[in-house]
Amino acid sequence: IAIDGFSSTGKSTLAKQLAQQLGYVYVDTGAMYRAVTWYAMQHHFVSTSHLDAEGLISNLDQITLHFVFNPALGFGEMFLNGQNVEKEIRTLEVSSLVSKVAEISAVRSKLVEQQQAMGKEKGIVMDGRDIGTVVFPEAELKIYMNASAETRAQRRFDELKAKGVTATYD
Ligand code: C5P
Repeated sequence: IAIDGFSSTGKSTLAKQLAQQLGYVYVDTGAMYRAVTWYAMQHHFVSTSHLDAEGLISNLDQITLHFVFNPALGFGEMFLNGQNVEKEIRTLEVSSLVSKVAEISAVRSKLVEQQQAMGKEKGIVMDGRDIGTVVFPEAELKIYMNASAETRAQRRFDELKAKGVTATYD
């Protein structure tokens, strides 16, 4: 099952619930891009002011990603080189840098290849913006999600609030 769509429309919420109901495995592809971003931050390949794409690309084979199912949470947690990085990859800093890293085509090829390998056995739900088009163009079921601007803004607001982010507006 491939779930694509706009941000903050509930892709991962739906994906997790579908996986739970159907006994499928949920794969959070965003977590994979976040993990590579966190690695790039740790190794000074990316920051708000710079991006060393060549440096990161030449280190891509040093990055091993896998998910370990956590029965209490009901989904797989992201491990980078054997370390659970679920907390590290959900920070605002990673959120603000991930798109720079996700634009690097060598990064995309590496992750897409891994995602396709995970889908070989079927019984999988994946969400992300290229899942139905690039990763699994032949998926048995493709869902594309959109929502009103108000709903998307509210979802993003609730997500940030849950993380304890506060802001003041003039
Ligand atoms: O879904 P999430 O917000 O965790 O995704 C983080 C980022 O990873 C996205 O904003 C996007 O830049 C990138 N991404 C991607 N392709 C995917 C999933 C995520 O480029 N399939």
